[in-house]
Amino acid sequence: MNGTGILGGGPAGLLMAILLARRGEQVCVYERRPDPRTARAEAGRSINLAMAARGLRALEAAGVLPRLRELLVPMRGRMLHAPDGTQQFSAYGQDEREAIFSISRSDLTRCLVEAAAEEPGITLRFEQRCLGLDAAGEPLLRDEPSGKEYAGTAARWIGADGAGSVLRHALRDDGQLAFHEDLLDHDYKELTLPARDGRPVLALEALHIWPRGGFMLIALPNADSSFTATLFLPREGAVSFASLRDTATVRAFFEREFADAVPLIPALDAEFAAHPQGRLGTVYAEPWNLGERMLLLGDAAHAIVPFHGQGMNCAFEDCRVLAGLLEDDAQGDAFERFSALRKPDADAIAQMALENYTEMREAVRDPRFQLQKQLSLELERRFPTQFIPRYSMVMFHDEIRYSAALSRGQRQQQLLDELTPIGADGALPTLAEIDWTLAAQRIAALPPH
Ligand SMILES: Cc1cc2nc3c(=O)[nH]c(=O)nc-3n(C[C@H](O)[C@H](O)[C@H](O)COP(=O)(O)OP(=O)(O)OC[C@H]3O[C@@H](n4cnc5c(N)ncnc54)[C@H](O)[C@@H]3O)c2cc1C
Repeated sequence: MNGTGILGGGPAGLLMAILLARRGEQVCVYERRPDPRTARAEAGRSINLAMAARGLRALEAAGVLPRLRELLVPMRGRMLHAPDGTQQFSAYGQDEREAIFSISRSDLTRCLVEAAAEEPGITLRFEQRCLGLDAAGEPLLRDEPSGKEYAGTAARWIGADGAGSVLRHALRDDGQLAFHEDLLDHDYKELTLPARDGRPVLALEALHIWPRGGFMLIALPNADSSFTATLFLPREGAVSFASLRDTATVRAFFEREFADAVPLIPALDAEFAAHPQGRLGTVYAEPWNLGERMLLLGDAAHAIVPFHGQGMNCAFEDCRVLAGLLEDDAQGDAFERFSALRKPDADAIAQMALENYTEMREAVRDPRFQLQKQLSLELERRFPTQFIPRYSMVMFHDEIRYSAALSRGQRQQQLLDELTPIGADGALPTLAEIDWTLAAQRIAALPPH
């Protein structure tokens, strides 16, 4: 085959296939799972995802956004649940246009498969598992129903086979790249908050967080008004998954830490016992390409922890950027340029995603953090071309690279710290007491966006 072979028909593999086919290329996608148009979704595995500007822009570039729109549930801010059950809403951005969107993973995948199936240049091959590379360096595939093994043929290959990428392992074993994976010592488990009489049991347009310092519960809305909650908790230790040995300890833990959520999770005991305990980690690989023959993208190249809600967004941005580089590839070095361009951005979002875990489970409860969030939005209102909060740069400003958001965010944080000194009595200034002259001076000294 002359065209491109894509290993993995997840979000990145499918979107990449569509973008390539729209350029008139022949693409074959090899996916180990059955066709999602006919198979049932897996229970308890990252049921919904937060979609933000970077993901939306890439979907738009591929022409598939219109068919996804009705699946998107807007989330305009975070709703914090205190241990006493009180709730506090904090907007993500300046207005309702600065929202993120919850989308069901299975609906998204099915929609992308349907869009890919309509492209004459795309062949979708399900239940085809990549096993590694054969002696000639071609992907070795197995047709799962028959068990028959064969070598894939394509002019070039894109590995979009996820965080555990078989292609990445094979290239490492072949001495073509190096990678390491930093596993987080916290795992996750998903639970369901069903709708009652068709109505949501929590405010629908928010991402709910029960921050408890060393761990947290979050919940994202679904299109059917239910919520999917995820518990993030250390794997081992005094308060950990290991310590939740049976129904009684699970229940006691939830009653103690998330009392207001317990009545909303009617199948808590059964789901906690049945749903898998997922692992989280960050993958650092280099290089991502084997010349112009093979390239890793999405989680296969740079899986990150989910606390900024950016893994899929970043994977989609990968696809848009790569399509752009292939569009203008007179030198025939698009894979090489892609790796050089995207690696600093992937490293930056990996770092920000790790930092966001501390923010979500701990810092959100700190009055100074809350003041700085309000101050950031106020600074943006007063100096819109010079100050954009880091969260907003990542989530709403796809024109700003992740690496720029990280470095700019670090300088902005120094300014926020300077403007919100903690008094001798531990008191913080109010927003009205902020030294706006100093703020203007410092902001003028920042490089423009
Ligand atoms: C708990 C959790 C919550 C998350 N929340 C968010 C969020 O809110 N927002 C966000 O942007 N991201 C989120 N993410 C990250 C997001 O899920 C990933 O970044 C995204 O799925 C990456 O897409 P991908 O196509 O690169 O990889 P994957 O989604 O992993 O897809 C890889 C595909 O390759 C297939 N495959 C694997 N191995 C083989 C093989 N050997 N042969 C053939 N096919 C194979 C798989 O079956 C799969 O279909 C979350 C992740 C987790 C774990």
